[in-house]
Amino acid sequence: MVAEPDHLNQMLSRLKLTAIRDQLDNLIDEAGRQDLSIREALTFLCEREIARKDQRRIEMCFGLARFPFVRDVNDFDFEAQPSIDKAQIRELATGRFIANGQAVLLLGPPGVGKSHLAVAIGRQAIIAGYTVLFVPAMTLVAQLAKSHAEGRLEERLTHFAKAKLLIVDELGYLPFEPDAAHLFFQLVSRRYERGAMMITSNRAVGEWGTVLGDSVVATAILDRLLHHSHVITIRGESYRLREKRRSGLLRNPAPPKPANTQVTGGSVFNGDEGSVSNVG
Ligand code: ADP
Ligand code: MG
Repeated sequence: MVAEPDHLNQMLSRLKLTAIRDQLDNLIDEAGRQDLSIREALTFLCEREIARKDQRRIEMCFGLARFPFVRDVNDFDFEAQPSIDKAQIRELATGRFIANGQAVLLLGPPGVGKSHLAVAIGRQAIIAGYTVLFVPAMTLVAQLAKSHAEGRLEERLTHFAKAKLLIVDELGYLPFEPDAAHLFFQLVSRRYERGAMMITSNRAVGEWGTVLGDSVVATAILDRLLHHSHVITIRGESYRLREKRRSGLLRNPAPPKPANTQVTGGSVFNGDEGSVSNVG
């Protein structure tokens, strides 16, 4: 049988074997050079097709995830952040917590790498085959409130419940509007034990009542989140400031204040309040 190149091309298109179709001549040459049996050649072609489909899926999911920047676990300087257990981050990067529908809280002061790790773990999750959506906390609650006002909350909750992993970044940088806590609660309930969530916050969980503006709702949210959870509390100083200090742009930090000093005004992190043991 003489193979008609056009006919073969059309069949490959119809079967959506586009990687094989687009590189057909090269692949056939390669299989010939390696003197592959028919079975080996078919395996070789299938591998190429699957590799291309995986690559496409990953690229598409990276786009849909709406990460604010590209960060990788391998770019993270673990030595600069001894409060982080590298093995725990590597374990999270396998995505097993997503399969188990667990929550991850990344807590700590600004600049210590919470968003970096959230993006990095999210990217690994996509590579492992999960879908991810990254959203700043303020955007999330603004969108929920808007949809609620338009009578389309259900639709919006479904949207935010769809990805296997929802990353909510920077909870607590700004206080919630009235009612926002309750909308956020509805989302957490919707995802509870069905999808995984990862939340970064500069506030210890003990302060979430203040941040959300409603301590009863905050307790209900934490009850669900902490049930199957990994709580990672990062201590230490901002990585950016540390780099500046190293290059001599800043002086060394002031000595620690006495323990009972009241610190006011914004994002002060008291790690001890977040001393929740890991359940997951
Ligand atoms: P946070 O979300 O905790 O406020 P980020 O994750 O935004 O902090 O970190 C601030 C910047 O510093 C980012 O560009 C991040 O990539 C970088 N960074 C923070 N910690 C580290 C680290 N340990 N190793 C490498 N880069 C880091
Ligand atoms: Mg951040």
